[in-house]
Amino acid sequence: MSRIAVFLSTAALFALGAQQHDLLLKGGHLIDPKNNIDARMDIAVRGGRVSAVAANIPPSTARLTLDVTGLYLTPGLIDLHAHVYFTPGNKDAWAGDNSVQPDSFSFRTGVTTMVDAGSSGWRNFENFRHTVIDRADTRVLAMINIAGFGMITDITEQKDFDPKAIAALAAKHKDVVVGVKSAHYRQPDWQSVDLAVEAGRLANIPIMVDFGYFLPQRPYYELVTKHLRPGDITTHMFRGPVPWIGPDGKIYPYLYEARKRGVIFDVGHGGGSFVMRNAVPTLAQGFYPDTISTDLHTGSMNAGMQDMPTTMSKMLSMGMPLKEVIRASTWKPAQVIKRTELGHLTVGAFADIAAFNVMNGNFGYIDAYGARLEGKQRLVCELTLKNGRVAWNWNGRGGDDYKKLSPTYGIREEFDHIVPPPR
Ligand SMILES: [Zn+2]
Repeated sequence: MSRIAVFLSTAALFALGAQQHDLLLKGGHLIDPKNNIDARMDIAVRGGRVSAVAANIPPSTARLTLDVTGLYLTPGLIDLHAHVYFTPGNKDAWAGDNSVQPDSFSFRTGVTTMVDAGSSGWRNFENFRHTVIDRADTRVLAMINIAGFGMITDITEQKDFDPKAIAALAAKHKDVVVGVKSAHYRQPDWQSVDLAVEAGRLANIPIMVDFGYFLPQRPYYELVTKHLRPGDITTHMFRGPVPWIGPDGKIYPYLYEARKRGVIFDVGHGGGSFVMRNAVPTLAQGFYPDTISTDLHTGSMNAGMQDMPTTMSKMLSMGMPLKEVIRASTWKPAQVIKRTELGHLTVGAFADIAAFNVMNGNFGYIDAYGARLEGKQRLVCELTLKNGRVAWNWNGRGGDDYKKLSPTYGIREEFDHIVPPPR
């Protein structure tokens, strides 16, 4: 062996040893609001965690490099309001609010964490945990409904409130319980809201209120200026009956007062809870949602809502800057549910990463009532990593050219035999 050959093989060994990353995303534009990054940046992952973030990470340091030039990289999205208590074959008995199966909708839309917003109550939460949360690849967290059986029907949500039972469950399941939900209440009093607040106080977690039926005895402005605590969430912020714009064309002052108190305004688009006539003038006046969420369920998934990227694209089309749209879908919801290990791509964090194509053109968006808005941009999810694993790959990045593979690839050698037909 010549000296040169020895030198080369040593160099090759060195190169192998230098592959300290499992995967490298190269050439993308990273928006990581927590770390105040909005720049061209490579991201490497190893062992399910972010192992490096830098302007130029050499491909030689990674076992696999995916070219994401032209895409925006973001932390995996956190959908703060979804319904995923889906129990096939048992729907009438348990499942809540027309739930869907989480993995069917998450990764293909850049979502790596879904917060189930009260589909289960304190009586059936453990069934939800065992049948869905523990079986999904999606990171599913939960807000427990103040009503015992959660969202089986509107009727179950009117009664059976127990703050102490929720506090006990929140302590027992603190790895997944992040909040309390009150929804679809139709009585003229504040019981559902106030007992949810009591549960939130006992468990030291926020509550989310879907105000349900808007009644004169309990006006919405009292919800956000009196009943909710700082850090509590008003979802369906752009629902039809919410008074946003006064006779002077300006946002009502009580909404600024609520925001100043620390109340969190969440989109929760859903199948009936988002009207352009409220959203467009509100965003035009610079009052952006704190958190963008879908209220994903069977009634919204194929309607105007569609998914997280579509809901985010609507906000973009109404003038909310891209960086703020990303913040409201990643770092802010993580803060709201006190899961600050999520929603950012600091070295050492979970490698939950999404990559979006921001398309330019003419796009139409409809609200929950068919009203249409023209937009010039649209987000499309091209790639999603969950814990460093490629969970969605819209454009086949990193795949091998099939012509370069063995002529018999795709056969399990130990089981399969190609038997040609007789001549
Ligand atoms: Zn909902």
